[in-house]
Amino acid sequence: MTSATSLLGALADVGADRVRGGYSRHGFDRVDVELREWFTAEAGARGLGVETDRNGNLWAWWGAPGPNAVVTGSHLDSVPGGGAFDGPLGVVSALAAVDALRAQGFRPARPLAVVVFAEEEGGRFGVPCLGSRLLAGTLDADRARELKDPDGTTLAEAVRAAGLDPRWLGPEPDLLSLVGCFVELHVEQGRGLVDLDAPVGVASSILAHGRWRLTFHGEGNHAGATPLADRCDPMMPAASLVLAARRAAGSVPGARATVGRLVPTPGGTNVIPSTVDVWLDARAPGDADTRRVVDDVVAAAHEAAEAEGCTVTVREESYGDTVVFDSGLRDELAGVLGGVPALPTGAGHDAGVLAQRIPTAMLFVRNPTGVSHAPAEHAEAADCESGVSALARVLAHLAGSPC
Ligand SMILES: [Zn+2]
Repeated sequence: MTSATSLLGALADVGADRVRGGYSRHGFDRVDVELREWFTAEAGARGLGVETDRNGNLWAWWGAPGPNAVVTGSHLDSVPGGGAFDGPLGVVSALAAVDALRAQGFRPARPLAVVVFAEEEGGRFGVPCLGSRLLAGTLDADRARELKDPDGTTLAEAVRAAGLDPRWLGPEPDLLSLVGCFVELHVEQGRGLVDLDAPVGVASSILAHGRWRLTFHGEGNHAGATPLADRCDPMMPAASLVLAARRAAGSVPGARATVGRLVPTPGGTNVIPSTVDVWLDARAPGDADTRRVVDDVVAAAHEAAEAEGCTVTVREESYGDTVVFDSGLRDELAGVLGGVPALPTGAGHDAGVLAQRIPTAMLFVRNPTGVSHAPAEHAEAADCESGVSALARVLAHLAGSPC
């Protein structure tokens, strides 16, 4: 039997980012392939049968795949410079929970599987929950194949390099129909459990959220030889957009808007850029509020672009409406765990994608810093083991009797 922290320890050097700190592990890159091989070996060592689906998600089956399966798992990829727990904690906790159940002599009455979803963060190809969205058919496969990473490599090329056939990408209703319920354990991305003094909780809802790419087009020119009056500098409206995002989100209760990525082209210190790409991440408790924030930001972007003699194009890269997790399953699992608290989250998850199709729940493990998507993300070893124990009890409850 293994602890979650010792399994995480085996990954301590994989994808460590020497420049940003933390980890940079992105879908289908060299590090991701190493992580996938690690998972396949760990699952194989437990006698689980590992299959890769058409979209690069890994499924490790305890028993033969079949209907009404109880599925748990998370993801192994990260944001650029992300923490050690976001994603991997759910995967290693699932493996450790299988060990704990085996040690108790538990035999599942329903098929049980541990899944690793591909490119959950969208850190390479821009679209979050790529693997689960493709599986569920909520992302068009033709569009997905053409997605490009910052180096210009398409998803089709990347999956081919990782040994998959890009023609296979797309919905898998037969596989999805085997899933009776899905439970994802995740480090909490906030301080809700700290404030409640609880090591483990269940999720109630996820904010509506999406990503928009705004490209400002101006005139590339010389930083010294071009008088201010002669400039069409796309960095000016880009800067206005950053401030407009904070303003717009601040006017809607519970909303968030973030610019975490901005790329000027060509990107020289003494060069007025010809274009600036800005990515807007916007979230709010409801669909209408999220759209309102984005509409306000886009209107401000157009106005600022016009004032500078520039133009702007806007593209929605991803969008997911508010997710309210199955209340029956949530309350059932909270009860199995002795009445643990239920919390909303502002973070997106594969569980949010699956919740649109099947009964889905999430378990959160306390994060003492409350920080996530950054190296300071943390969970204490004792809380990780509380998470494993909670997940094992939940899996035993769900898979312990035929449905
Ligand atoms: Zn995650």
